[in-house]
Formats: sequence, C-alpha cells, structure tokens
Amino acid sequence: MDILAADIGGTYLRVALFSDGKLVKKVKIRTPRSGGKLRIAEEVYKLAMDLRGEKDIDRAGIAVAGLIDVRRGDVIRMPNNPIMSFPLRKPLEERLSAPVLVLNDCVAAAWGEHISRGVDNLVYLTLSTGIGAGAVVNGNLLLGKDGNAHEVGHITLDYRGRRCGCGGRGHWEAMASGSAIPLFSREMASEWEGERTEAWKTALKGELDPPTLFSLWRDGDVFAEEIVFELVKINAAGISSVINVYDPEMLVLGGSIVLNNRDFVELILQEMREYITNRMPFVDYAGSGEDAVLKGIALSVLRRPRVLDTLSSPSKIKGKD
Ligand SMILES: [Zn+2]
Repeated sequence: MDILAADIGGTYLRVALFSDGKLVKKVKIRTPRSGGKLRIAEEVYKLAMDLRGEKDIDRAGIAVAGLIDVRRGDVIRMPNNPIMSFPLRKPLEERLSAPVLVLNDCVAAAWGEHISRGVDNLVYLTLSTGIGAGAVVNGNLLLGKDGNAHEVGHITLDYRGRRCGCGGRGHWEAMASGSAIPLFSREMASEWEGERTEAWKTALKGELDPPTLFSLWRDGDVFAEEIVFELVKINAAGISSVINVYDPEMLVLGGSIVLNNRDFVELILQEMREYITNRMPFVDYAGSGEDAVLKGIALSVLRRPRVLDTLSSPSKIKGKD
C-alpha cells in the first residue's frame, strides 16, 4: 500500500511517501505562513504530486502541530502560524481521491511509537517550536471530545505568567518553546545585573534563539547559563506534570530542542526529582528522529487507532464555546 504522509510543523512542512510501511521519499520546505485558508492543503498536494511520480496514493495521513477537529479533519488553531485555522481533509480528499486522516502531530507520533515499541503506556513529548504530547494509556490512544486530550504545552506553570501564542496565560509553551525562548530571554536580560555577555546582548535584541543559546551555554557564557538553568526547571516541572497525569511506562522525547541538545535534556531529567510524584518512566529518544511524526502518521493510517471509529457525535451537553 502506498501512503502519503505529511507533517505540518510550526517551522517545517515535511511530506513523504511510504510504501509497505517504509519511508521511500521525502521533501521538506518551510511551513507556509500566508496565502489564505487553502494554501497549506494546496502545498501538501503539490509536494505529494512531485513525490508520487507514476504511483497511485492509496491513503493519506496528515499530522498537524496544533488543535484539530478530528471528526472534520480541520485545523482549529495552529498557534504559531498566522493562517491559524484551515480545512485539510475535505480539500485533500477531493484532490487526491483517497481517504485522508488528520491527527495532531504528537498524537500520531505517540501512536507510532506505541506500535513500533509494543509499549501500552507511553507518552511522546516534543520540545520544538511548540511543546506538545500524545498519550497512549493501557493501549488506548487518548483523543478527547475534539481530538486534543493532550495539549500539555498549555499547562499553566505560572498563573501570573506571560501570554501564550494561544491567548492563555503562563503556559509552559509560552516560557520554554523554541518560539518563546527569544522572548523569555529578552525579559530575563532586561532584569539581569550580571556580566554583559554576548548572550545577554543577543537576548536584549530578542534574538537569542535556541541554537545560539545552547551554543553560547556550551562556551561558558554566564547569561546563557542562567537562561538554560531556568529552562531546565520549567521543563522539569512541565514534564513531571505530564508523568503525574498519564503515568506512562515509557516517555519518548522528540523535537528539535531535545534531539539537538541531549546534555540539556539530561539536566532536565535529573531536576524532575523535584516535581515528580509518580514512578519515573523509562526515557528514550524518538527512534526516527525528525521523521518520528511522519512515521507515526503513516502507522496511524496503516493501523488505525480503534478510538477513531468510536468517536461519539458532538455532545448534547451544552458547553461554552
Ligand atoms: Zn497556550
């Protein structure tokens, strides 16, 4: 079976072709940030046509870094992208003439890791442009009423804290995600009374992005060290909260910040002793690195989570919109 898989991330859009469960071809571009509601679906379709050549696509799976409506296959909110909300399943099913499954990116990765590792209680967690997770509990993929039962990046870690890209306050993602680090560092720089280092100067301009921060930290820059220690605490508190809620046997870590900075991750794991209640799970890194989400969504198409076929119709309970 030939499966088209797409990973619509905060920074990159990756599209791949899987044949009999194996990744055979892949392209990666920057995720479009303008051009209207159909732009992203069109871009996925264009890349898919370039990749497939003469082959037919039997089914497709699209994973998105954002809030989705899993029944309709629409993106409700992609916090780090100005296009924000857009349809995916309908326009892509029309163009591809194949069934399309839309899932949150970390949910897809969690399901993929569950299948490839055979572990029934597993959390996949990513520290990247955003912060997200997916959870499999006792072999069941957790979805919730719309498909967003895992929005851990929006756990409030500081109820008086700064505004998040989603509009909420003091969220983990607003402090420690790749997109928040330059803003968070700028605030820290304006109150810093120590040595005026290169990291401090870069932070004051709002330009201390994760690669620069971690490289200056390794060079011994004391301001970079201060920021990294804060990030260690914030992430230790966030990850511990996730473990306390889902109680996994295994925590699989992915995303660019994790995969490029394992020394930083080791510090976070040590610091978790301060915050964790449940027994510490076994921790591992995403097996397929930056392709974890692509592989996860392809596996979700191949071995569709049962829960997708048992979703009840929108609830009659009156909730607030
Ligand atoms: Zn938020």
